[in-house]
Amino acid sequence: TSYGFREVPDGQKQGLVNQVFHKVAKRYDIMNDVMSMGMHRAWKDAMISALNPRKEPGYKVLDVAGGTGDIAFRIVEASGRQAHATVLDINGSMLGVGAERAEKKKLSGNLTFVEANAEELPFEAGGFDAYTIAFGIRNVPRIDAALSEAYRVLKRGGRLLVLEFSEVDMPLLDKIYDAWSFNAIPQFGKAITGEAEPYQYLVESIRKFPNQENFAAMIRQAGFSRVTFTNYTGGIAALHSGWKL
Ligand code: SAM
Repeated sequence: TSYGFREVPDGQKQGLVNQVFHKVAKRYDIMNDVMSMGMHRAWKDAMISALNPRKEPGYKVLDVAGGTGDIAFRIVEASGRQAHATVLDINGSMLGVGAERAEKKKLSGNLTFVEANAEELPFEAGGFDAYTIAFGIRNVPRIDAALSEAYRVLKRGGRLLVLEFSEVDMPLLDKIYDAWSFNAIPQFGKAITGEAEPYQYLVESIRKFPNQENFAAMIRQAGFSRVTFTNYTGGIAALHSGWKL
């Protein structure tokens, strides 16, 4: 479906995404609350419950597109401050905000921040117990490359969890959601950062992302077993799970 926004060629996508997050980094956390009406917190909490991180020091998680650290902080806390989380993001501005937040929360000892691309992870094979990515994979130009990298860096028995906006499957909610995302989100973006277009792009990227079934198929394609998904809030977001067995 076209919503009248200009098409972004794949080769330019990463550059545009980087601009958006560079501009918004300092206001990213507040924007998340405004644009999701606070719901992102509940979805993230549900993701961490699904992961159920082991409470032991050797437990290692890689949080990709980790941005300002929301997922990694929750994992470290849920492990009783035992786990180690690597926060990886392509954007140094987002990581900078994350590192500051980590200091304030006194979590820095459990965290490493790495600036890199999800399509090409700077890690050896088989090092992580879990790979998490929240609201990040739709921004990655080559999703299949990101998924095979996820598979590569996980240990045997390791877990993949992907939280992402998905296809709304409730009759009235989809109308409300469309109105919210195509009108309110670019408006808020403009009010907060001075520009609407990058937000129109982000909304468009949600529409283009494969639906639950199709994304589950891509995860299987990358080699993962026992692939399942759970919808949150009528499918506004969905959590996909897979195992490297
Ligand atoms: N996971 C965090 C959260 O849930 O609050 C941040 C999500 S934010 C919507 C998306 C993040 O993906 C941004 O920080 C952006 O820089 C990052 N990103 C975009 N493309 C990426 C890529 N190719 N590799 C790694 N990170 C990427």
